[in-house]
Amino acid sequence: MMTRRPIWCIDQSFAVLNLVVHSRLVFDRGWKTEMRFKSVTPLWRCICLGLLAFLSGVFGSAHASEPAQGVPVVALNSQIVGSLIGRQMQYLEDPAGNLTLEQVREMSQRFVPSASAGPNFSFTSSVYWFHVALQNQNASDVHWLVEAQYPLIDHFTFYTVRDGQLADTREGGRSLPFVQRLIKHRNFIYPFEAYPGQTVELYIRVQTTSSLQLPLAVWTPQTFRAKNHEEQFGFGLYYGLLFSMVIYNLLIFLSIRETSYLHYLHYIGGYLIFQMAINGLAYEHLWPAAPGWGAAAVPLSICFTLVGMVNFSRSFLNLRELMPRANLWMRYYAWLLLALAVGSLFFRYSVMIKLATVNALIASAVVFVFGSICLLRGIKAARYFMLAWTALLAGVSAYVLKTFGILPVNLLTEYGLQIGSTMEAMLLSFALAHRMTMLKEENLRIQAEATSQLEQRVAQRTQELGVAMQKLSQANAALQVMSLTDGLTGIKNRKHFDTQLANEIKRSARGHLSLSLLLLDIDHFKKVNDQYGHLAGDACLREVANTIKSCLARPSDDVARYGGEEFAVILPHTDIVGAEFLAQKICRTVEARHFEFEGIHIPVTVSIGCCAVVPDAKGVSESMIAAADAALYHAKHTGRNRVCVAPDPSL
Ligand code: GH3
Ligand code: MG
Ligand code: MG
Repeated sequence: MMTRRPIWCIDQSFAVLNLVVHSRLVFDRGWKTEMRFKSVTPLWRCICLGLLAFLSGVFGSAHASEPAQGVPVVALNSQIVGSLIGRQMQYLEDPAGNLTLEQVREMSQRFVPSASAGPNFSFTSSVYWFHVALQNQNASDVHWLVEAQYPLIDHFTFYTVRDGQLADTREGGRSLPFVQRLIKHRNFIYPFEAYPGQTVELYIRVQTTSSLQLPLAVWTPQTFRAKNHEEQFGFGLYYGLLFSMVIYNLLIFLSIRETSYLHYLHYIGGYLIFQMAINGLAYEHLWPAAPGWGAAAVPLSICFTLVGMVNFSRSFLNLRELMPRANLWMRYYAWLLLALAVGSLFFRYSVMIKLATVNALIASAVVFVFGSICLLRGIKAARYFMLAWTALLAGVSAYVLKTFGILPVNLLTEYGLQIGSTMEAMLLSFALAHRMTMLKEENLRIQAEATSQLEQRVAQRTQELGVAMQKLSQANAALQVMSLTDGLTGIKNRKHFDTQLANEIKRSARGHLSLSLLLLDIDHFKKVNDQYGHLAGDACLREVANTIKSCLARPSDDVARYGGEEFAVILPHTDIVGAEFLAQKICRTVEARHFEFEGIHIPVTVSIGCCAVVPDAKGVSESMIAAADAALYHAKHTGRNRVCVAPDPSL
């Protein structure tokens, strides 16, 4: 028979760990205090855990006590209402679970008084029997209620013994459909009647796969209603806030499709379900007809919430970029947690709840460590992340310090856990929004930078292109000039002459103006080459070209090298008289010029044929050239070094 166990043994440690998911740990009588661990997120529950385990170890086992010397009687009066009556109860362990009420009643000497206001036997396969005697000392109240304030017990049987006779039997617990409850409440409520002065004995048989706890409170129907009323308001406020955070962030997620929001929804939504599951509200409102599922829901919702918490932290802290390896391990860990969540549906509750609780500790530590590393690295987003966790820590600390009498009991300390977890949910939501703003600003900055860089580059390229285009057009112009220039003499070439003559013919035709053409040929130039060499010949060609140019006074007059030692001069707006005059001038100037090559004088003369025409039809250029050429030919044959005038070719 189990009577007492040290708190440090594994089983009992799980009882302490079980606080994380269940509800309370009652300390030694000297403390006269009970710790309620509802509504705490995994990390802080686990931080408190060590402290609680330590204190429990220091101040003794939760239910160590001496054997019974008779049943203490609970006085039913206004003082007892709302209190836990554990210390007035006795218990008996039934390891085989096959004792009947009659057998148990005969074994009254083997009952052990409970030292705790809320007896807690951790995980056990034994059945426990509890016995309590209640005497009505309040003249006005006949109807009384006892409330088992731990909604995760699988199966209760309440027996009422009045005047030594079994008066009533009632079954309860989460293994039965909710609809079977006489009083529809998240906790199991057992009503009984006790007339003034009458003593009623209660025997309670408890069998469960969860941690075996029986925090039993006594109420009158009126006081229970009043307490329930306030409790409902508190639950409504708490769950309403969490639920509105879920809805709000769901809408944001639908709008911006940011994965962090999805993980946040997963985390807070899972946490909400988990909270509802452990305080019996989920069983009452979400799955009242599915008792089997209700048991699995606790470890499942813990593991599911932890998946959300790990993924949210990964995503929010951007671990993929900041700590890729840690991110990978956390991903694997999230998968493991998911497997545990699924496993909760198939494996024993007592095993899965332990695994879930241990993982709550590990996951919370992991998240806290990575949050701290990011904070130390100066990651801005980590500030709000850690602020949210700190808000929760502050809430939990306020509650714990109140419990130990260090802080006064007030709204903030009494509901520190709920305020802390709500603050955490709100701050994380704010942190998400802030992170999105930062990302947006960063994006805008990068975009602006890219645009300005692009503009700069475009301007630079445009300038370079402009320079290149300018060079190209200069090169083009030079090329064009080169293509129209004679390489040896530097005056225009035959190609230019042909174009220019055609243009001048058209212009003169439009204005009915006279256009003249001179064709020059150096006399006996072959001899010059033969006698003085080709270099001397080339020098002569340059000298003749320059001499002709120097004789032309009008800007419109144009000289070109027509062939080997032949030159052509176009004289717009010039009649035959003017043309002949200019031809004579050139002829005489060349003759008079003193050509010297390497100190040797070279006599040079030219023969010139000239013609003038007022063009009016096509084919004029050929006839002009032919006429000038004929005149030149004539000059050659009539003695050279002279000018011959061709008759007007249009006549
Ligand atoms: P004519 O008085 O009848 O014109 O006698 P000519 O010797 O000038 O006659 P021809 O037309 O037969 O000779 C022209 C010579 O001009 C032939 C060629 O050697 C020379 N010649 C043509 N082009 C060049 C040139 O670019 N450089 C040099 N050095 N000689 C040239
Ligand atoms: Mg010639
Ligand atoms: Mg010649």
